[in-house]
Order: sequence, then C-alpha cells, then structure tokens
Amino acid sequence: GSLTAAEAEGDERTIEAALRPRTLEEVVGQVRVRDQLGLVLEAARQRGRAPDHVLLSGPPGLGKTTLAMIIAAEMTAPLRLTSGPAITHAGDLAAILSGLNQDDVLFIDEIHRMSRPAEEMLYLAMEDFRVDVIIGKGPGATAIPLEIPPFTLVGATTRAGLLPGPLRDRFGFTGHLEFYDPAELDLIIHRSADLLGVRLTDEGAAEIALRSRGTPRIANRLLRRVRDYAQVRADGVVTLAVAHATLDLYEVDRLGLDRLDRAVIDVLCRRFGGGPVGVSTLAVAVGEERETVEEVAEPFLVRLGFLARTPRGRIATPAAWEHLGLTAPKLPDS
Ligand code: ADP
Repeated sequence: GSLTAAEAEGDERTIEAALRPRTLEEVVGQVRVRDQLGLVLEAARQRGRAPDHVLLSGPPGLGKTTLAMIIAAEMTAPLRLTSGPAITHAGDLAAILSGLNQDDVLFIDEIHRMSRPAEEMLYLAMEDFRVDVIIGKGPGATAIPLEIPPFTLVGATTRAGLLPGPLRDRFGFTGHLEFYDPAELDLIIHRSADLLGVRLTDEGAAEIALRSRGTPRIANRLLRRVRDYAQVRADGVVTLAVAHATLDLYEVDRLGLDRLDRAVIDVLCRRFGGGPVGVSTLAVAVGEERETVEEVAEPFLVRLGFLARTPRGRIATPAAWEHLGLTAPKLPDS
C-alpha cells in the first residue's frame, strides 16, 4: 500500500518508520536470516508458544529494529521497545520486566550497552522467567523472587562479540545481518520511491544503490536528498544527473564512502603511514568516539577491503591508498 498524505509529508523519522517492511515477505535481502527466523516463528506459532529469544547483530541501519517489529507482528504480540543505554540500573529493567504480559515481545536495542547488574537480572529472566527484586539496602537487604510471564526477548547489537558469553548463550537464535548488495538496495529504493511518490529513473536508482554503503537506512536517506534536489533544482524526476549532483553535494563518494569513512582511511594512510595503529588513537585523530569508528565506519571499510583489523592495530590495504589517489609504501618484510 502507499503512504497516507500525512506520512508522505511527515518529518524524516515518520518517513523512516513508514518505509519499514511490515512482514517477513516484504523484507528485501537477508535471505538466510529471513529463512531461519521464519522457521523459528512458524514453529512457535504451531506450538502456540512464545518463540525463543532472538539476537540480531549487524551494523546500524541494516534492519534489526524492523525485524523486531516484524517478529511481534507475525506473532500478533505487542512490542515493547527499550535500549541498553536507557537501562542504567537493574531497577529500570525490573520495572520493564514486571510490566510484561504473556507472550509480549521485548526489544532491547544496543543490548551490549546495558549495565552489569541489569545483565545479570536479564539472564535469570530469560531462562527462568523470574526476577529477584531487592528490598532494602546493605546487610538487611532481601531478594524477593517475582515470576514474570513467558515473553520473547529480541536483542540488537552491532556485534554479537560485544556481549558477554553467558548472555549470548541464552538466545535461542542469532541472526547476523549482512550489508546489502546494490541489486537489493535497488529494490529497496524503488519500493521507497513508490511509497513516497518519487519519480525516478532506473539509472538514478542504480546510482543511489551503488553509493548507499550497503545500508537500507542510508539508501532511504539519500533518496530523500535526491528528491529534494530534483524538486528544487530540476523538474522533479530523479535522473542519473540529479543523483550525481546530489551525491557530490553531500560528499558521498563513488563507492559510497562518507566523510567519516574517508577521514578514517585518510588519517590511517597520511598520518600513520598505513598503520598498524590502535583504534582509540585512530578515533582521537578523526575526532570521533571510538565506538563510532569501530561499529559504524570500520565494518564497511573492512567489507570494501580497505582496512584490516589485526592484533597490532588497524592497517590500510593498498586498495585504500589507491582510493585516496596515493601510492602505498612498499611493505617491510615481516
Ligand atoms: P537497525 O535497527 O539495524 O539500525 P532499522 O531496522 O531501523 O535498522 O532499518 C533502517 C531503515 O532501513 C528502516 O526504516 C527500513 O525502512 C529500512 N530497511 C531495513 N532493512 C530493510 C529491508 N530488508 N528491506 C527494506 N527496507 C529495509
């Protein structure tokens, strides 16, 4: 179906929400995760039980929240959303867990950023559907066990390896989301353009797909920018020329690298001679948080074969030097 006028005219967040696929069928790409998840959900439906806890991992914008919403929708269960950083005390989590109803789906985004005590409370809740509520302080404190109804936890994290083993082990299924290839992004862009009523040529769509960093969220965002450009500076149709002009304006390069991606390899090559250099040092040099460099920029640079993570630090590959128009130094024999 297409969007309501309010959705099509709405702010960017409304639009992002409106472009989300609503069923597993509508999800483009991620064939493996979709198949695996489909089986988990179908089996749970047949047994009339809440499905096993699900962990979704992958870089931002690949569809983790979308899949969590689809899990709830396919189970016709209410979805409760929260995030690791929002759970600073175990008490925050206790409040959420004790408010759950039977078969609810609880989505915890950035689950690797939960506090330690909350994590421990979550183990028990996932396994035994129980929380220990601590009453009082100090030596007189007592733990009162509280039963909670069976629910399904869907956790999202940028990398499954960031979770402590005991937490990871309590998920019955882990789906690893991969970057999308240009053909898949092309489908997503056409679908979004239809929903938004944007007119675009196949060449225009293909160009946006190539430069979207393998990420649907970025594809949808670039589509909105080219649509602005087409409306203001052209005749409303997103052509190849319009796509080129817009992407150049926003400094998205030929391979879809954005400013941060380029800054990382630029600093790595020019300032650190291609590495190896530690990720913290790299982050300071580009003026970003270490997590942002590690979880947002690096996965795509690794996927492009521009950057390698080694035990001694990050290394720029010859392809990275070439992309910057530089000559890679001769490697010392090691
Ligand atoms: P994450 O939670 O991994 O950061 P989201 O689920 O919020 O990512 O997805 C970001 C946007 O990308 C959504 O608004 C959705 O429209 C789009 N999207 C993600 N995955 C897909 C997909 N497989 N097919 C179509 N659109 C997708």
